[in-house]
Amino acid sequence: MKYYNLKDSSEKVDFAAATIKGQGKEKGLFFPDHIPHFEQEFINNLSQYSDHEIAYRCMKDFTSSEIPPEILQEIVQETISFEIPLKKISDRISILELFHGPTLAFKDIGARFMSRCLSYFLKDQHQNVTVLVATSGDTGGAVAHGFYNLPGIDVVILYPKSRVSPVQEKQLTALGGNISALEVNGSFDDCQDLVKQAFSDMEINKSLFLTSANSINVARWLPQQIYYLLALKQWQQSESSDPVIAVPSGNFGNICAGLLAHFRGLPAEHFIAACNQNDPVPDYLQTQDFKPRKSVSTLSNAMDVGDPSNFVRILELFGHQFTLLQKKISGFSIDDSQTMETITEVYNKYGYMLEPHSAVAFASLNLYLQKNQDKKGFILGTAHPVKFPDAVEKSTAIQVEIPESLRALMKKEKKTVEINSDFEELKRFLLHKN
Ligand SMILES: *Cc1c(COP(=O)(O)O)cnc(C)c1O
Repeated sequence: MKYYNLKDSSEKVDFAAATIKGQGKEKGLFFPDHIPHFEQEFINNLSQYSDHEIAYRCMKDFTSSEIPPEILQEIVQETISFEIPLKKISDRISILELFHGPTLAFKDIGARFMSRCLSYFLKDQHQNVTVLVATSGDTGGAVAHGFYNLPGIDVVILYPKSRVSPVQEKQLTALGGNISALEVNGSFDDCQDLVKQAFSDMEINKSLFLTSANSINVARWLPQQIYYLLALKQWQQSESSDPVIAVPSGNFGNICAGLLAHFRGLPAEHFIAACNQNDPVPDYLQTQDFKPRKSVSTLSNAMDVGDPSNFVRILELFGHQFTLLQKKISGFSIDDSQTMETITEVYNKYGYMLEPHSAVAFASLNLYLQKNQDKKGFILGTAHPVKFPDAVEKSTAIQVEIPESLRALMKKEKKTVEINSDFEELKRFLLHKN
């Protein structure tokens, strides 16, 4: 498989180069040069395949000969090493729980797959590789755990001091080993600026082999298709119609992976882009006019994105045909008060505890199903309620139970280096960290 740059299709790279580079010239995203189809027999009989076999078949065309079969088998086994159950909430709405991984959010899946691919591609490097990443919360933890203890790789994570939740902070800072956490006196945007400066600094690049673990990396984006197949495998056991799939969306990588799987033959009645008040895509689906904007803060903060990077991949997938796109995807924008109401209602009615991101998806799917009485569907549960205890406890008046894995983590000590939002301080750290 080759991947071309969406900003300049003459730039074509293989999977290894796309993984190591992350993005192409002019910050263009890479996109597969053809869409490999699933065999009908495979899709009709998912229950006869193990989860690992499904994951392997899903990914093999994208990594082609660059990752040998036995290595890819190992990688998918380490990626899908926790349960991903599809649970019924109500008669017509189920939830795919993607939050049983090490950092309790769906980003674990992409981060684990990518880290192992990168580690494989760089195994013959004699120099250590430094993964440099800025985070507003969830990405950092997933990357830290995904890369923890991988030989030949150091990770440096920048996060804004006092602006991540206590659980998120522990997930970033308590591992130690090859993971360093820099606590920046500044905002997430400051962190991102510092990282960008480091990537263009000659002196740093001369002494360190820097790479990113950005969410637009194909090795993080593509494996997200796997769990749509795992959902369908479970769906087929009790339902005969195709599901409506609602995805809590921010940067639109997750839903775009589901759409890609659909183009490859995964049956889905319809997709729902569930957004908070950051809603340029739902607007676009109404008006055909895409207007990126500054993001606003909401309860579902991992979706506070005003200019979603993966939107261009969705357009490409649909061949820029608006009518096709509009037929397959509906967009909804759910505000914070509707989010809180949904958490309360779903808990009172069904005894199921949602967190804000999944609640946005539930509310969206519910609105869609009210107008489409003969349909059923599921939402993607992207995070565990314990990651957002304030909103959940306020809505339900119930304390969120802390999973065992997290209790151990919360007892660990936070290890960080504090820096100001000053590039010279970051540079000094990077050049002298070893
Ligand atoms: C990152 C994130 C999202 C948004 O996913 P995208 O792929 O960026 O659309 C939704 N929910 C949670 C909990 C997240 O961490």
